[in-house]
Amino acid sequence: MNFPASWDDIDTFERKNKGIYVNVFGYNEEGKIYPLRLTEGEDAIDLLLISDGEKKHYCWIKNFNRLLGRKGKPRYFCKTCMNGFTRPDALTNHRTYCNEEGTVRIVLPKPGSEESVLHFKNYNRSMRVPFVIYADFESCIVPVDTCQPNPNKSYTNKIQKHVPISFCIYVKCFDDSVL
Ligand SMILES: [Zn+2]
Repeated sequence: MNFPASWDDIDTFERKNKGIYVNVFGYNEEGKIYPLRLTEGEDAIDLLLISDGEKKHYCWIKNFNRLLGRKGKPRYFCKTCMNGFTRPDALTNHRTYCNEEGTVRIVLPKPGSEESVLHFKNYNRSMRVPFVIYADFESCIVPVDTCQPNPNKSYTNKIQKHVPISFCIYVKCFDDSVL
């Protein structure tokens, strides 16, 4: 291996040391941690790559959740998108849906900034109509028990169903005195 180890060297290290996996994280000027290299293996060792110009150094992250967390309540962080969850099971649920294809950190626009508000600009495409009906359902998401699917055939694994619990229809007329 070369020192400092490149991503290729870490690939080689993982291949030669079966069962040992390595994640590498970096940080920006604001001190925000982001993933640089995520392994596919379970129970990986987390490293922080500290850079100072040309100088680079890997530092062992002993407790990932504590590195990203703030004082107070413990949080459980997703190593792909760096979102924190208050319960470990919430993190497990999230991981099913999180982008596992590559490293990503979600950055939301600053509150109150121009990008934080959606604007409707195409007024020329809008149309005046005498009546508009707005309708919406709300539902409860209930887990469902299913049989073990046959892995030799393609299947859809149903894990929950939406049970309707309320609905509302609102009719709006151009002339409020009509209805
Ligand atoms: Zn995530």
